Amino acid sequence: FDDRDGYIWFNGEMKPWRESNVHILSHAMHYASAVFEGERVYGGNIFKLTEHSQRLARSGELLDFQIPYTVEEIDAACNAVVKANNIVDGYVRPIAWRGSEMMGVSAQSTRINVAIAAWEWPSYFSPEARMKGLRMQISDWQRPAPTTAPTASKAAGLYMICTLSKHKAEAAGYNDALMMDYRGLVAEATGANIFFLMDGKLHTPTPDCFLDGITRRTVIDLAKREGIDVVERHIQPEELSNATEAFLTGTAVEVTPISEIGPYKFTPGQLSQTLMGAYDHEVRRTDDRAALVSTSAA
Ligand code: PMP
Repeated sequence: FDDRDGYIWFNGEMKPWRESNVHILSHAMHYASAVFEGERVYGGNIFKLTEHSQRLARSGELLDFQIPYTVEEIDAACNAVVKANNIVDGYVRPIAWRGSEMMGVSAQSTRINVAIAAWEWPSYFSPEARMKGLRMQISDWQRPAPTTAPTASKAAGLYMICTLSKHKAEAAGYNDALMMDYRGLVAEATGANIFFLMDGKLHTPTPDCFLDGITRRTVIDLAKREGIDVVERHIQPEELSNATEAFLTGTAVEVTPISEIGPYKFTPGQLSQTLMGAYDHEVRRTDDRAALVSTSAA
């Protein structure tokens, strides 16, 4: 992914993609002192940009560091990267990390670096293809307790078990994995939150030890607007046998139905379809304005 044309915003400068390197002794690489974001660009606009920039700042604070740019500056930098790379439908990846000024667990005086990359990445699965549903394996890894790790942070270190879970699922022919939490309750997928249709209501785990996703909150609002009851609660894995539909939500996966999770089977139906459509409409609401902006800039 490092050998391509384009620009990456790197500590306040626009650097060529291929030259955007870090030193091998960066603290982040040895001790996972990094936090990041994942954002989507629709028609040239970053969806819920400021919420992502605020979460990046909060993630840094939870890792005991202050990002040396304001939320407004991060917003502006994300937009600048999208523009510099001519992204229409794509993905933005801001990251903040401790640098290489000191080596050891203690890293009090390391520089906090920030970089932002963006690339073209349309959502290439048609709604029809998505309605087939994802096949998910149940992971053996559990999301850690909030007393074990800063679980509300989008911290690089929390993804170690996500990669392990996802690799194991892929090796067995599945698309993704569902992780339980430290209590054995249903938590989330490796890069997305999860919802179930049970008894005519939408049920989703309480995000008390994993990310309360921006897409998750958007979908809860959209469901309520559609008159669907939403229940946030602790969900036992055995309860999945009562669910008729299930789907994932996340910036990357958007709203994607699930057809199976281990022994539990679901049939993507009306509810998944409604929320996929509502989400698609919501993220593209500002397209007209984006078209105007890009015309005037051209
Ligand atoms: N959980 C995990 C582990 C994730 O990586 C993501 C993606 N950021 C989510 C949930 C969903 O968050 P969001 O909707 O803000 O993208």
